Amino acid sequence: MEPMRKVTELEKTARDWLNERGVTIDDMADLVYYLQSKYHDELTMEECRHNVNKVLQKREVQNAILTGIQLDQLAEEKKLAEPLQSTIEVDESLYGVDEIIAFSIVNVYGSIGFTNYGYIDKQKPGILKKLNDKSSGACHTFLDDIVGAIAAAASSRLAHSAAGDEED
Ligand code: MG
Repeated sequence: MEPMRKVTELEKTARDWLNERGVTIDDMADLVYYLQSKYHDELTMEECRHNVNKVLQKREVQNAILTGIQLDQLAEEKKLAEPLQSTIEVDESLYGVDEIIAFSIVNVYGSIGFTNYGYIDKQKPGILKKLNDKSSGACHTFLDDIVGAIAAAASSRLAHSAAGDEED
């Protein structure tokens, strides 16, 4: 169990929206495990969950989540102006702003997060594969990058704390 602490409205909303879009803490912890189990012999899911929760406590992460999910939803409802509507709806590969938002998350725990992000974005294990399945009719242009970035940031946080860096 995580110790009791005050959760801001912003954090609560970011967590709720992730859930509503079908992404759980365990989904993201699975990605952290996927990225880090080969480097840490006794890595547990509990540690993975803990690091995901720590990342979700950061304001810049919460803001990235809300911004990305909002744009995905507006695109699903066809409420964006053209040409942005089509660009986001079809997840146009040269758009790139979804990745920029993801970088604001990866940035939080330093440069090894970038390596992890690039790797997981290519492999697309677990929840990332699900989010990339276009047949559902849902738009996850931003969310897939955000979820990969949260896992990458949690992985670098885990690596830093395993190396004895102080908890923030
Ligand atoms: Mg994307």
